Amino acid sequence: MNPQSDHRRQVTVIGAGIVGISCALNLLRDGHDVTVVDRVPPGEGCSRGNAGLFSSDSFVPLSLPGTLRKVPGWLLDPLGPLAIRWRHAPRLLPWLIRFVLAGRPDRVKAICDALEPLLDSSLEHHLALAKGTEAEGLIRSEGCMYVYEDAKSLADEAKSWDLRQARGTIVEKLNAAQIREREPALAPIFEHGYYVSNVGHTVEPMLLVKGLAKYFAQSGGVILQREVRYIEIGPEGPSRLITDGDDLDIDVLVIAAGAFSNRLTAGLGSPVPLEGERGYHVTIANAGIPLNMPVFANTYKFIATPMAPGIRIAGTAEFGGLDAEPNFARADVLATHAKWMFPDIDTSDVTTWSGLRPTLPDSLPVIGPSPVFGNLFFAFGHQHVGLTGGPRTGKLIADLVAGRAPNMDIRPFRADRF
Ligand SMILES: Cc1cc2nc3c(=O)[nH]c(=O)nc-3n(C[C@H](O)[C@H](O)[C@H](O)COP(=O)(O)OP(=O)(O)OC[C@H]3O[C@@H](n4cnc5c(N)ncnc54)[C@H](O)[C@@H]3O)c2cc1C
Repeated sequence: MNPQSDHRRQVTVIGAGIVGISCALNLLRDGHDVTVVDRVPPGEGCSRGNAGLFSSDSFVPLSLPGTLRKVPGWLLDPLGPLAIRWRHAPRLLPWLIRFVLAGRPDRVKAICDALEPLLDSSLEHHLALAKGTEAEGLIRSEGCMYVYEDAKSLADEAKSWDLRQARGTIVEKLNAAQIREREPALAPIFEHGYYVSNVGHTVEPMLLVKGLAKYFAQSGGVILQREVRYIEIGPEGPSRLITDGDDLDIDVLVIAAGAFSNRLTAGLGSPVPLEGERGYHVTIANAGIPLNMPVFANTYKFIATPMAPGIRIAGTAEFGGLDAEPNFARADVLATHAKWMFPDIDTSDVTTWSGLRPTLPDSLPVIGPSPVFGNLFFAFGHQHVGLTGGPRTGKLIADLVAGRAPNMDIRPFRADRF
């Protein structure tokens, strides 16, 4: 750490997910006094159960020309990747309109341009952040495979692959035999595939965050388990956190509260159209098959990742609002998908999980200073790539708090862009 810093501040971070802990560690390394506040222990929000990929190639937005056309089919298929709780639909409608507009070709290009540098070299950023911590041993670098059943489904994704390759993603095209050679346990139904080498993964996303958090605490950082109920505003900006425990005076505040961030930022003059996009996983212990690397199955849009506790099948997007209870039948669907993908898998020993991705309609996060208060910074909204972009986001926030110019363009991530 750097206790010699001339600009030592007291910084409070709300949120102990991968994004908040990455911010906290980078701020601590800059010599600040840093406190992290979360209602649950580190890594137990959305960062707990994700698919574990550091997917530097996932800068293509969720909304593309043609996405809208596929939505009815996805919604009608009980095994499909998308669900909407109809009670939430009226509130979701303005978000959906923005989502569709973000899929115009000119916007798609601009979104790729903005997101690519945030996700680039994620594996290297993770290795640098985790160096010397318990998280270091949880990182792998085997790359990732995307598989397709036929030429039509491959052609459907051609635009997305063109965008990736145009921005330097190196991909190796695979035929059926090459796919099976890399992953012999896969069903022989996949005729086409891509291998992307610059993708890493973690074998336990929750323990990765906990390992970083432990190092943060051992290095002088403070972690408090509190729910922030309200933020008081003083003459200079946010001045006090009202919590379910003791209240906390604050100097500089970073909001990294994942899908719940808008509940805090709206009262601070920065409402944003943030949705909680629910995903699920099943983790299959004693699966009885080999899996060498994460594999993305395009038909049902989920990922199978080799993890320490077993093979994790993660995916689905469900829009129901922040307070809706999870529907674990959607996790059961993932177990069915596992059998479809790996015919010999033993699914008798599974655990399920669900979490809310923080998703804005243009697929871009909010990272940067508050447009209203000088002592307030935002770091949230990383949709499907929060694990990938967390470490880089932490560095950007540390740069901003220190008054250093970030070495990438963060204007597309402004809170007041909506
Ligand atoms: C099924 C699934 C698979 C995924 N796979 C991947 C993947 O392979 N790669 C990838 O990069 N991303 C993936 N993601 C996305 C990724 O998990 C998220 O983008 C990321 O975890 C977001 O991190 P975060 O720190 O912003 O949020 P969180 O991890 O949710 O952390 C926010 C924290 O804020 C706390 N909080 C909120 N409000 C308050 C309050 N008022 N007071 C106190 N504490 C508060 C919460 O308790 C929580 O701990 C996946 C997501 C899902 C659901």
